[in-house]
Amino acid sequence: MKEIILIKYGELALKGLNRSTFEDILVKNLKRRLSNIMDFSITRSQSTMVIEPISKNPDMEAVKEVISKVFGIAGFSIAAACEKEIETIKKTAVKYLEDTLVSFKTFKVEAKRSDKKFPLKSPEICNELGGYILSKNHHLKVDVHNPDIVVTVEVRDNYAFIHGNQIKGAGGMPVGTSGRAVIMISGGIDSPVAAWTMAKRGLVLDAVHFASPPYTSARAEQKVLDLLSKVSEYSGKINTFIVPFTEIQERIKDDCPEELVTIIMRRMMMRTTEKIAKKQGCSAIITGESLGQVASQTLPSIACTDIVANIPIFRPLIGMDKNEIVAISRKIDTFDISIQPYEDCCTIFVPKHPKLRPTLDEVAEAEKALNIDELIGIAVKNTKFVIIDASVREN
Ligand code: ATP
Ligand code: MG
Repeated sequence: MKEIILIKYGELALKGLNRSTFEDILVKNLKRRLSNIMDFSITRSQSTMVIEPISKNPDMEAVKEVISKVFGIAGFSIAAACEKEIETIKKTAVKYLEDTLVSFKTFKVEAKRSDKKFPLKSPEICNELGGYILSKNHHLKVDVHNPDIVVTVEVRDNYAFIHGNQIKGAGGMPVGTSGRAVIMISGGIDSPVAAWTMAKRGLVLDAVHFASPPYTSARAEQKVLDLLSKVSEYSGKINTFIVPFTEIQERIKDDCPEELVTIIMRRMMMRTTEKIAKKQGCSAIITGESLGQVASQTLPSIACTDIVANIPIFRPLIGMDKNEIVAISRKIDTFDISIQPYEDCCTIFVPKHPKLRPTLDEVAEAEKALNIDELIGIAVKNTKFVIIDASVREN
């Protein structure tokens, strides 16, 4: 039986964005992600895309898994395609949904008829097919208000499509419709969630990670790459920059007041990230900060870090509680990697009593001891570049 995939992106997602840009980018993303699994064609009509496999017997479970991680899709269905003839539609529906229908008690039929030449009107299709399904499935009852399963028939140009309940999509905007931003990624729980949250709004991601060998290990670095790989199942390719941060941290520790070490370190991270962002054509920086979570995330601390960058800083988790962040990290499967116990550069040289309310003046004064531009220049020069792309490994 011929199976196709119907992709629904819904009108709401198109607000403020021109439809063809949205669709073009969504098609490009789908092609890129699915091409490892099968050959296929994509056609569009109204708010639907039809993906028609050309390969024989494609792995539909893999297809489902990939599509459910493509942003910009509200929902999708795997459907049987058959000839536009009511007897064929009835037989195909009962056969195609046989295994699905046994696990439900109630159903209804919905018909969508974009081919207005089809001899039966939508209510007639529903009656015909509903009656036939009942005659073949004695355990089922019709419930038009709250059915367990909606059997949908869509009569379109070339075929009739038949499917059961729609599968939920990842929502959001296609990656690439909102521009490009750099995520400051640590090995923690928060920053991968922040990255995912902003990719969902259509941003292409680059990533910057600060490593402080030998205080931080190669395994800590690998953990970050593993986290990015998970995020990249949703966001697509992530250009990743591993910045050596040891020298900067040692200079701060030796030359600045202890209680300001963390805030100055964060300002140095922010400045370095901005430099890489601009070089890469990124128009914003993303962090995983959440207000008040730790000393460096109080409002005065955030104010001190915010001011060193001249591009927007997105903090999508700023108003979230830890348990809300954890729930997302479990959903996107980064949690188990994040809790592996490898040290991050933020956890070394941590002052016993970091200043909770640093002022800009005192921080700026303390930083006079550092040759900021030179330190950042050297760090950027020695940065390592890695491309993370989960879709390359998908088959
Ligand atoms: P996370 O769970 O993301 O590590 P956190 O709660 O541990 O966050 P901090 O350590 O204060 O908080 O870091 C705040 C944010 O700063 C992180 O979410 C991340 O965006 C950025 N950050 C922290 N450490 C690094 C690092 N080593 N490299 C790049 N960015 C970092
Ligand atoms: Mg952290």
